[in-house]
Amino acid sequence: MTSKPLNHVLHPYINYTNLRSLILISIVFLLRSLEHKLELVPMASNLDKGLIVSFGEMLIDFVPTQSGVSLAESTGFLKAPGGAPANVAIAVTRLGGRAAFVGKLGDDEFGHMLAGILRENGVEDKGINFDKGARTALAFVTLRSDGDREFMFYRNPSADMLLRPDELNLELIRSAKVFHYGSISLITEPCRSAHLKAMEVAKEAGALLSYDPNLREPLWSSPEEARTQIMSIWDKAEIIKVSDVELEFLTQNKTIDDESAMSLWHPNLKLLLVTLGEKGCRYYTKGFHGSVEAFDVNAVDTTGAGDSFIGAFLSQIVDDQTVLEEEERLRKVLRFANACGAITTTKKGAIPALPSECDALSLLKDK
Ligand code: ADP
Repeated sequence: MTSKPLNHVLHPYINYTNLRSLILISIVFLLRSLEHKLELVPMASNLDKGLIVSFGEMLIDFVPTQSGVSLAESTGFLKAPGGAPANVAIAVTRLGGRAAFVGKLGDDEFGHMLAGILRENGVEDKGINFDKGARTALAFVTLRSDGDREFMFYRNPSADMLLRPDELNLELIRSAKVFHYGSISLITEPCRSAHLKAMEVAKEAGALLSYDPNLREPLWSSPEEARTQIMSIWDKAEIIKVSDVELEFLTQNKTIDDESAMSLWHPNLKLLLVTLGEKGCRYYTKGFHGSVEAFDVNAVDTTGAGDSFIGAFLSQIVDDQTVLEEEERLRKVLRFANACGAITTTKKGAIPALPSECDALSLLKDK
């Protein structure tokens, strides 16, 4: 006896394969019309998109299973994959964009686990190196009952710090339309030299340089050293994103206003973004400046909000940088980035909370 296809067994009158295609087409149609209504950059197939290469560290945060306890008091920890540049790469692919991660992981179970997470999320892995000698970086992080964050890093040295200039996949870096990086990769050699070389190669090949310093004070030998090194590559970037806390740290000025932000301006800069948590963000260009309000959400964990924000922003401008010169269009893209940042705060952890394009469009539609 020949077996009937399952669809016919389930219901003799409905062709389930056609029904599935019909539902898929309707979803795509719905998304396209939403994009049109909200005047966002329309979705192209992933391969048509410009590549965003994110350079730096990927690590595992170990977070206590109970809240409000010190690291010593905690009886158990959960693994939370992170590292700002890796989060940014995943933020881009989750929104339908194309991203690659460049960095180094330990040739150990955690390193291969992290590379697997990048791959599962569609991030290109040709720029990942594995170190035979050093371990993948770990950070134990807790929010104590007194509200202070406590960190303990396992980087003595960790694999990410050992990335050498000769290990860089230059072909991949040259194919970037946007090259994005932070400042943790500037802390020690040889990674610092690898960072500088990658930036130079990307720039020469015509990539737009995007910098989110992502200050982690405990990793630096002193606040002065952090400030000096973060500023040492300041005038190379064309897009810079800082948080209000970083603005205060870099300017050593407690007032967060247009004047303090503009003191960070440099002539090569096309856009300076200052994120303000639940207050949204401010933007500064040569021709105009202003602010865009945040979305009112039930925030439970703000980890990764800034990475989601900048990833979303880059995914929207990678193929049309004229957005940076037109205020109305820029404001729409920043609203999209604010929506993505807001959604990321509504779930625990960074990577699990990064939104899809569908999530972001439905928040924008509802407000
Ligand atoms: P970082 O994570 O770099 O410190 P922010 O905390 O400023 O950055 O968050 C980045 C963006 O995410 C903000 O500009 C905002 O749009 C959004 N966001 C962050 N926290 C909240 C919140 N509590 N409610 C709504 N949106 C938020």
